[in-house]
Amino acid sequence: LSYFLSRWNMKPILKSWQQQQDFVANAAHELRTPLTIIQSKMELLLTKPNEKIISQMEPIALSLAETRRLNQLTRDLLMLARSDSNMTQVTRQPTQMKSFLEQVIAPYSEIAASQDKTFTAQIDLDNAQMIDQKRIHQLLVILLDNALKYTQTGDQVQFKAQIHGNHWQVEVADTGIGIAPENRKAIFQRFYREDKSHSRHTGGNGLGLAIAKWIIDSHQGTVKVLTNEPHGSRFVLSFPIEHIKEHHQQ
Ligand code: ADP
Repeated sequence: LSYFLSRWNMKPILKSWQQQQDFVANAAHELRTPLTIIQSKMELLLTKPNEKIISQMEPIALSLAETRRLNQLTRDLLMLARSDSNMTQVTRQPTQMKSFLEQVIAPYSEIAASQDKTFTAQIDLDNAQMIDQKRIHQLLVILLDNALKYTQTGDQVQFKAQIHGNHWQVEVADTGIGIAPENRKAIFQRFYREDKSHSRHTGGNGLGLAIAKWIIDSHQGTVKVLTNEPHGSRFVLSFPIEHIKEHHQQ
C-alpha cells in the first residue's frame, strides 16, 4: 500500500482527510459541553419558572426543542467522525440476549400508547451473544424511534427477535408511511432524508441510519429493508451466532 501511496503521491490527500475527520470530531466535542449546559439551564427554567419567566414559557420551550436537536446532531456527528478515524471502540461482552432485549424495548409500549399507537414484541432468543451492549442498544433505539416517527395514530410497531439458521435476527416492522424500494439503499447515507420537509417536521437529522449501519457492520451483521405488507417498513437485521465457551455468561 505504501508503495502505491508514494507512487501516486496520495499521502497528502490521506493526511488532509484524516485532518478533516479530526477537525469534525474536535469541533463536535467542543460544542457538546456548552450545548449541554444551555439545555440543562433551559430545562431548569421550565421546570421551576419564576414570575418573570411565566410569560416567556413558549419561546423558551421552542428554544429548548431546538437546543435538544442541536445536541443530538452534535452527538451523532461526533460518533460518525470518531468512527471514521477509528477512534470509536467496540467493546463486546457476553450478553444474555432475552433479558438485554427486554430492557431495551421496555419503554416502548408506554411511548407508543402515549401516541395512540400499538407496540408488540416477541423475543425467541434465549442464548448469550458477544455484543457491544451500548452500541446494540443505540442501534435498536434508532430503529424503534424511526418506526414510531414514521407512523401515524392507530399504526402498529412490531419487534421480533429469533434464531434463523446460524444467525440471530432482529426485526423492527411498522405499518407507517413506508420507504420506496429505489430509496432503500440511500437511507443509510449521511444526511439523507426521504422527504426533507416531512423529516424536518418530525425532527430528524438524517444521521440515525448511517450510525445504525456502522454499528451493524461493526458486529459483522447485515440489514435488509423490506415492505411490511400491506404497507410500512420492515428492517431485518442479521448477526452471526457466536458460541461462547471461555467467557462467563452474564
Ligand atoms: P432521520 O433523522 O431523518 O429519521 P435516519 O437516518 O434515521 O434520519 O433515516 C433516514 C430517512 O429514512 C428518514 O428521513 C426517512 O425518510 C427514512 N426512514 C427511516 N426509517 C423509516 C421508517 N421506519 N419508515 C419510513 N421511513 C423511514
